[in-house]
Amino acid sequence: MKNESEKRAWSGTIVSIQPRTTVWRYRLDNRTHSHLGYNLFLDGEVNGLAGPFSVAISEKQQQKAQFRIGDKIKGTAWTKMYAVTEYADYYRAGALKVVERAAEPQDAGSPPPYLAPLPDMATCERRGARMLSTSCYKGKCFQCVWATMAAVAIEYDWGVRQKYRFESFCYGPKSCKFYKMGRPRAVPYKGDSPSYDDGCLDEILTEGRSWDE
Ligand code: SF4
Repeated sequence: MKNESEKRAWSGTIVSIQPRTTVWRYRLDNRTHSHLGYNLFLDGEVNGLAGPFSVAISEKQQQKAQFRIGDKIKGTAWTKMYAVTEYADYYRAGALKVVERAAEPQDAGSPPPYLAPLPDMATCERRGARMLSTSCYKGKCFQCVWATMAAVAIEYDWGVRQKYRFESFCYGPKSCKFYKMGRPRAVPYKGDSPSYDDGCLDEILTEGRSWDE
């Protein structure tokens, strides 16, 4: 469903920065991940209303601003025209400005979660993702640079109809002690029983890296 898009002014403190991704699914034949930039998760206010919110930015915007957790920033963005194709609350961000830098640059600390460095899109593409349980995503993994909530399009009736949902994934090391796949995910197709993505695609999509990589 298409909505009117409206411009908003916002400001806040960055709580998490994650890759901004989409996924296209077709039965168990195809799970294609695309890497578009980053989602900033903030505590602050939008048009004077206080609360948590998220803003989608491009890779170029992140490269230029070098945002990190703890930075106080501000900018503008637009409400979503299509609620299902973008996980962040707002997109088309502009006028981005750092109001106050976080006291210390984030370092790797003692992961997990991995707070830095933020991977570029080519790195995510090369590494491939595994399904991550929603409870891990919302809990221990939320600040991790390897966590993402992807906007998923399922090819439900080839070339005629798609279904949409959001799914969490992890680009991090397979050995991460926080990792849980969660339940297999049903991939429906019109007039047929659903297929179940039970981790077999994760193995294929991440076969290029070792357990600790
Ligand atoms: S499971 Fe993945 S997203 Fe969660 S902390 Fe580990 S590497 Fe990060």
